[in-house]
Amino acid sequence: MKLDKFAVLAAIILSAVPWGSTQEHPKLKLYISVDMEGVVGVVSPEQLSPSGFEYAAFREIMTREVTAAVSAARDSGATEIVISDSHGNGQNLILDELPRNITLVRSFPRPLGMLQGLDNTFDAVIFLGYHAGASSPEGILAHTISSSTFADVRLNSKSVSEAVFNAAIAGDLGVPVIMFSGDDVAAKEASAALGNIETAVVKWAYGARSGRTMMPADAYDLISQTVKRAITRRREFRPFHLKEPIDLQVQFKNYRPAEVLSFLPIFRRVDSHTIQFTAIDMAQTSRVVEFIVNYDPAMQP
Ligand SMILES: [Zn+2]
Repeated sequence: MKLDKFAVLAAIILSAVPWGSTQEHPKLKLYISVDMEGVVGVVSPEQLSPSGFEYAAFREIMTREVTAAVSAARDSGATEIVISDSHGNGQNLILDELPRNITLVRSFPRPLGMLQGLDNTFDAVIFLGYHAGASSPEGILAHTISSSTFADVRLNSKSVSEAVFNAAIAGDLGVPVIMFSGDDVAAKEASAALGNIETAVVKWAYGARSGRTMMPADAYDLISQTVKRAITRRREFRPFHLKEPIDLQVQFKNYRPAEVLSFLPIFRRVDSHTIQFTAIDMAQTSRVVEFIVNYDPAMQP
């Protein structure tokens, strides 16, 4: 009688445990957004676009940083990984050299920019190869979203880097940023805004076009260790959320884009070089910025 009772109880408990699913291998869905200015060794435009003399070499290095992060994430329990190639033309990463069983977001334009494809089913976001924002006087290749046309981007009256802009998009979706890699100035800036996230400093800034850098193989190791630490600590991080509505201000390097955009009643012209837009959330903010960056009446096809 006593034994029977135990057997019934055991059967009930066993039937309630989802073997081989959530108990033993919890889902861990990761989004890795990859830029290039903060990749190890990058100090000038010569590494950043197809016309630069070192671009081919640095596409390889960028791809290896991603591979190091993916392997570390898998070792730490990541079950699904989406990478976004978020620099320049969005076609820098070399597909044939990336690990299997990930998916890759490529090319622009895309409404969520550097986080296209992110949604509330993801558990965490990682920023690799990121750089300091447009208002930084120190970071290597510092800018926000468009180095050639934007002097500054402000959200709710504060100048933001791409890390902060994107963290706010992810925050709206309830997804925290857990790790950042780039130069020392950019990492400090990201930590100051986003809290105690894990950072991998792969080089040290001397100025906008110079710095002291680690060697690539050492950076891959550092990125790997930092990703592992971040995933271990992932429950400590909270989504970064900005108060809505979002007050977006874009300050252009030239005054004509501000003038022409101010013809649209949705924009307010703040001063000669700056326009303002009130957005309901970060997804809308991102769409407006992507429009401003990408619209060209001569676009073909
Ligand atoms: Zn960037």
